[in-house]
Amino acid sequence: MTAKLIDGKAIAAKVRAKAAEDTAELVAQGFAPPGLATVLVGSDPASEVYVGMKQRMCKKLGMESFSFTLSPDSSQEEVEKMVQELNDNPKVNGILVQLPLPGHLDDEAVLKAISPEKDIDGFHPLNMGRLAQKGREPLFVPCTPDGCIYLLDEVGVELEGANAVVLGRSNIVGMPAALLLVKRNATVTICHSRTKNLPEICANADILIAAVGRVEMVKKDWVKPGAAVIDVGTHRIDDDTKEKGYYLTGDVAFDEVSEVAGWISPSPGGVGPMTIAMLMRNTVRAAQIAHGLVEV
Ligand code: NAP
Repeated sequence: MTAKLIDGKAIAAKVRAKAAEDTAELVAQGFAPPGLATVLVGSDPASEVYVGMKQRMCKKLGMESFSFTLSPDSSQEEVEKMVQELNDNPKVNGILVQLPLPGHLDDEAVLKAISPEKDIDGFHPLNMGRLAQKGREPLFVPCTPDGCIYLLDEVGVELEGANAVVLGRSNIVGMPAALLLVKRNATVTICHSRTKNLPEICANADILIAAVGRVEMVKKDWVKPGAAVIDVGTHRIDDDTKEKGYYLTGDVAFDEVSEVAGWISPSPGGVGPMTIAMLMRNTVRAAQIAHGLVEV
């Protein structure tokens, strides 16, 4: 392997430690600990796991967590009413509605109902809109793409003027990642399922963010020698030869790409731990905003 490893676990641990430190400082100043409310509609097992992880992390860092589970057949009105109650609750600084919502619900309307000051996922149209505009700053940035940029910054990859390719244009990862890179003066190409000559485009990238949701799709010959590669993809592959009966991998063929890349963030152990760390950081920021401690 020639690429240097971007250790998401270690970098995320530092972000969490800072969130814990800032939480302790808020409490020392006489404020309540930052509070994160999670709203889960239904009982999707994966969503339950994610919500549980977020709650445990809050507690570990000294924050409050409030958990609400609504029945899978909740109406749009009921979900939005819950969000409104949380908007009005001063103990709640951040509101996270776990996606995906059941199919009969309008997730855009639910996200829009969250107060932008409590939108710690950064998905409110006001925050996304500001992310897309020159000279405007969102109150919060979506956690996974924010984590990608944080990883690049942490290891000193120069963003300004870099040729960056983002593989994927989803609302939660690809598009905000591309917008963040533009804000940092990278020259950005966004690729998606209709893109032609994908390998050639990727091979021109100084920075390649893979958020495509396809198992180990990015191969060695897609990567420019020395490029920084961030693997957002998360896949669980059944494998009886493994103790757990499966293994985890990403959108990048790690072993072969490591032979040419300059930097590589693995999956697992790269962006995954950053996502939850950035969520904790955003929750502290929401509390600081609520107490008028940061200018927005
Ligand atoms: P998504 O909503 O399914 O979006 C995938 C994107 O990739 C779409 O823009 C799609 O293009 C594009 N795409 C799909 N197949 C393609 C192909 N063959 N060639 C070129 N482009 C293709 O996925 P997502 O939510 O962004 O997630 C992407 C990956 O990141 C998944 O593996 C997911 O599990 C992982 N993820 C990880 C974290 C974390 O915390 N680590 C968080 C979120 C997601 P179109 O727009 O044209 O359909």
